[in-house]
Amino acid sequence: MTDNRWPSVTIIRHPVVQEQLTLARDKRTDVEKFRQLVKQITRFMAFEITRDYPVRPLTVETPMGTCVGSAMARGLTLVPILRAGLGMTEGVLELIPSARVGYLGIYRDEKTLQPVTYYNKLPPDIASTDVIVIDPMLATAGSLRVAVDVVKKTGARTVKVLCLVASPEGLDAFTADHPDVQIFTAAVDERLNARGYIVPGLGDAGDRLFGTA
Ligand code: URA
Repeated sequence: MTDNRWPSVTIIRHPVVQEQLTLARDKRTDVEKFRQLVKQITRFMAFEITRDYPVRPLTVETPMGTCVGSAMARGLTLVPILRAGLGMTEGVLELIPSARVGYLGIYRDEKTLQPVTYYNKLPPDIASTDVIVIDPMLATAGSLRVAVDVVKKTGARTVKVLCLVASPEGLDAFTADHPDVQIFTAAVDERLNARGYIVPGLGDAGDRLFGTA
């Protein structure tokens, strides 16, 4: 499903995804169940986000004869933003175990309020691959805008964004900077609160994934 306000956004409205997201939002869901739900939702979303990736012919011999099938034409690089992106990365890897994984750590400087990249470890061959930047909560989009800038500079073939929940404010900000980047999310929520949390959202995704609340 698309939304007229943000043409580059796809909302995965599948009933299974929506049920799992609802359970993940529930504050009574414990860390183990939360992690499991995030992984399941992401595996499902990974099908959608990779749907239009190019393929190349691959010929195999079946027990009955020759079959010209297909294989993915290019490598895939996942770039989770630390730390909450890690929980979703596992779900994509279950679907595409050959994907490379690069990491970006970004924090917001308390004085300047600007995002600062403190960790950057991307695969050396990233330029020949399609990249999916992963961050469960597209809230203010501050880190995501920087992460996508960094990935674009590598010359990667394509860049997409995978998240669980987005805010309207974050989508406005992100799509103004990167109108060419497709975003896949399971929900667009009501708003951001004064502390930059998504309402109703699901709370702090990192804390809920790692039990640090
Ligand atoms: N990060 C989170 O984990 N949750 C939010 O609601 C916003 C940012």
